[in-house]
Amino acid sequence: MTVNQIVAILALMRRTKQEESLTLQFKLIIMIDNDPLKRTELSALGEFGLIDHLTQGIAPVNSTTLKGVGDDAAVLDHGDMVTLVSKDLLIEGVHFDLTYTPLRHLGYKAAVVNISDIVAMNGKAEQLLVGISVSNRFSVEALDELYAGIRLACEKYKVDLVGGDTTTSVSGLFISVTVIGRAKKEDVIYRSTAREHDLICVSGDLGGAYMGLLLLEREKKVYQANPQMQPDLEGNDYVLERQLKPEARADVLIKLREAGVKPTALIDISDGLASEILHIAKDSGLGCRIYENKLPIDVVTAEVAAEFTIDPTTAAMNGGEDYELLFTVNVNDFKKISAIQGIHIIGHMLEKAEGEYLISNGGSLYPIDAQGFNHMKA
Ligand code: ADP
Ligand code: MG
Repeated sequence: MTVNQIVAILALMRRTKQEESLTLQFKLIIMIDNDPLKRTELSALGEFGLIDHLTQGIAPVNSTTLKGVGDDAAVLDHGDMVTLVSKDLLIEGVHFDLTYTPLRHLGYKAAVVNISDIVAMNGKAEQLLVGISVSNRFSVEALDELYAGIRLACEKYKVDLVGGDTTTSVSGLFISVTVIGRAKKEDVIYRSTAREHDLICVSGDLGGAYMGLLLLEREKKVYQANPQMQPDLEGNDYVLERQLKPEARADVLIKLREAGVKPTALIDISDGLASEILHIAKDSGLGCRIYENKLPIDVVTAEVAAEFTIDPTTAAMNGGEDYELLFTVNVNDFKKISAIQGIHIIGHMLEKAEGEYLISNGGSLYPIDAQGFNHMKA
């Protein structure tokens, strides 16, 4: 390319920027990407920063769009009822590793993590659409296994698989799942509606899925170094199951309804407790306190954490993928909530100026930091 040609292209780029023509912009994007002066690394924004950046200023033009970007699912108005929609994309090598993830489990998990987002709006998942992009490395039998897992989840959560898309990929497996759910309009619970003095509650226990992941990663390395070695996973079924076969806690919603408690804010824990409580606090315009000694941690999780010299609190706060429910309730519901098995009160909401802190067993305050599973920072 001659200097004159480069100058001509740069002039074209400048003009294109002003005209914002779609076809010409295509060229522009390629050029900008190659221009180090105009390039912002994705890691500079992080996952949530990037979503904010890409979606800033997008205001719904349809009155049916009650809630767009910014919660576990979008909320669409249909009179007394709302439709809830959420989507997740899973990429081989980023979100799953087929060295230790059986395809049946992968299919189950891909469906469940989406269903969990509908549960996190206090809704019922009803339909699923599954897009797969798959290279010729996979056989029909392998995809049958994947779908056996998806079917199992559909059966368990009474969800219909109603469509999707299938394409080839150059390498690897991509799974994109969209879930559609329903709720009565007045039943929907957002992240942004916690109130000062509310109690912070969590279902089940935390940090297990991350410990399962660390175990599987360790055994993968051992196997790679010596394929004769058998995996040493004895006694750790609980955390392996937490990683490979998570569940959406629809049962918790039923228990809450039976107890006559409606959470004021609700989210599922996909990225780690720290990240999720910050969503509730920030979106509700509040601060919070979480008590370390109230964090529910299973004994196997604690044992595996010790093996890896990881603080179990770190695993619980930042591990991610537990898919438990995190929610706030009015302090007047204390008795009702305390009576429900498997629900733990771990803290409370405060006014915004108080900030967001973890109170350690020793009584010190640590700022809650969403370092969790930020794939773009990794
Ligand atoms: P969750 O962890 O509950 O699945 P995410 O953190 O993935 O939720 O997404 C947060 C919000 O941002 C959701 O409302 C989601 O629909 C929206 N979102 C995520 N990625 C994009 C994107 N590329 N474009 C538009 N909206 C997005
Ligand atoms: Mg979610």
